[in-house]
Amino acid sequence: MDELRELYQQVILDHNKNPKNFGKIEPANRSAEGYNPLCGDRIDLYLQVEDDVIKDISFEGAGCAISKASTSVMTTVLKGKSTAEAERLFRKFQKLITSEPGAEPDLIEMGKLAIFCGVREFPLRVKCAGLAWHTMLAALKNENKPVSTE
Ligand code: ZN
Repeated sequence: MDELRELYQQVILDHNKNPKNFGKIEPANRSAEGYNPLCGDRIDLYLQVEDDVIKDISFEGAGCAISKASTSVMTTVLKGKSTAEAERLFRKFQKLITSEPGAEPDLIEMGKLAIFCGVREFPLRVKCAGLAWHTMLAALKNENKPVSTE
C-alpha cells in the first residue's frame, strides 16, 4: 500500500502539471459540465461517440490537483472503450473510492485507476476524484443540466 501511495502522489502531480486530452475536441457529439461546490472544481467534458464506442474524449476546466488528475487519467482509460464498459468502470471507480479497506475492487484489474484508492481516507476528496466520472455518465446520457456533486 505504501507503493500505491507514492505512485498516487506522483501520478496526481504529473497529470496536474501535464493533463492528458486537455482542450476541446471538434466534433464532440456528447458533452456535460460538472461542478463540485465543496472544492470549486469545474470541468467541461467532451466526447465523440460512434457506434457506442468512445472514439475521442477531452476536457477543459479548472480545479484542484485531484479533480484534474482524475479527469486526465479517466480520459486516457476511456478512449476507445465502449459506452457499456465506461458505465461499468464508473461503478467500479465509485466502489474503489468509497470502499472500506479490504472491500475494494481488484486493484490489478483497476489498472492505473487503482491509485485513486487513496482518496477514500479523505471524504472531501472523494467528490473531487468522482466528479469526472459523474460528468462522463451525464455526457453519455446526454443530460443537458450541469452535474453537481451536491
Ligand atoms: Zn477538488
